[in-house]
Amino acid sequence: MDASCLFCRIVAGEIPASVVHETAETLAFRDINPQAPTHVVVIPKQHVADAAALSTEPELAAAVLAAGAAVAGAEGLDGGYRFVFNTGPGAGQTVFHAHLHVLGGRALTWPPG
Ligand code: AMP
Ligand code: ZN
Repeated sequence: MDASCLFCRIVAGEIPASVVHETAETLAFRDINPQAPTHVVVIPKQHVADAAALSTEPELAAAVLAAGAAVAGAEGLDGGYRFVFNTGPGAGQTVFHAHLHVLGGRALTWPPG
């Protein structure tokens, strides 16, 4: 737990969130500024800074991906969805606690821009 980390504080219950899925290792909640009809962020409960750091813990990384797939199924994203890990400020990462964006419910263009 990093007391200065927004997502650690959500895990700790100090900041409310709209939780849609939870496992022993992960928490998933609706993004406060959704970019699609379904926009959920999946995080490891353990603080790791970004996707590169998460990759050094393969079981935890797999748990995050599995939770994302479970969310996509529960949200009925049968037509397709997008997983995004913004990694580093140049890619738009603003919260430095690794998180998987699950986006869907509208047409998702590629390349994303
Ligand atoms: P990123 O820009 O990839 O670091 O993503 C951080 C995401 O966290 C953004 O999409 C924000 O809208 C979202 N966010 C920030 N604060 C909250 C919050 N309190 N509850 C839910 N989502 C949040
Ligand atoms: Zn954290």
